[in-house]
Amino acid sequence: YDTSQSHLPDEAATLALAGRFARALSPGLVIHLHGDLGAGKTTFTRGLLAGLGWHGKVKSPTYTLVESYPLAPFTLHHFDLYRFADPEEWEEAGFREYFGQETVCLVEWPDKAQGLLPPADLILALEVAEQGRHYRFTALTEAGKTCLTRHST
Ligand code: ADP
Ligand code: MG
Repeated sequence: YDTSQSHLPDEAATLALAGRFARALSPGLVIHLHGDLGAGKTTFTRGLLAGLGWHGKVKSPTYTLVESYPLAPFTLHHFDLYRFADPEEWEEAGFREYFGQETVCLVEWPDKAQGLLPPADLILALEVAEQGRHYRFTALTEAGKTCLTRHST
């Protein structure tokens, strides 16, 4: 599977999709989250974390740029780069080291750190559609395709 898409009628549907998708994850994946403010990127991440058994708080990393969740199989890093502006900050903050074979990284507003971010294995695009949302996963690497196949079968 290279793509997978459908409609999400309400927030519960976004959380349910994310909860199912959590089971298809494997360490090393980089997932870019596309969509306007309010499209549901953070909601999706919240559902993903719930699916992975995270019972703690999930904060939007709007000001911190990243929130990290140490889970049993891997640490999940949730970036929100909406406010990211200074390329030097990328190295200074050590963000490069957040990516690797031991972590899963979800990135909101990846375009804000173009040229700094590792390439995505998967893109999830969310957009407002009627009362709900439309989503589309696109796999860009073998690891991304494997994940999407696990999710879709
Ligand atoms: P983003 O991180 O993309 O800016 P958020 O996840 O913070 O967006 O906010 C999305 C908003 O849309 C929340 O108020 C959430 O309840 C709502 N929402 C999420 N999924 C859906 C859906 N499928 N249909 C309708 N509303 C949704
Ligand atoms: Mg958000």
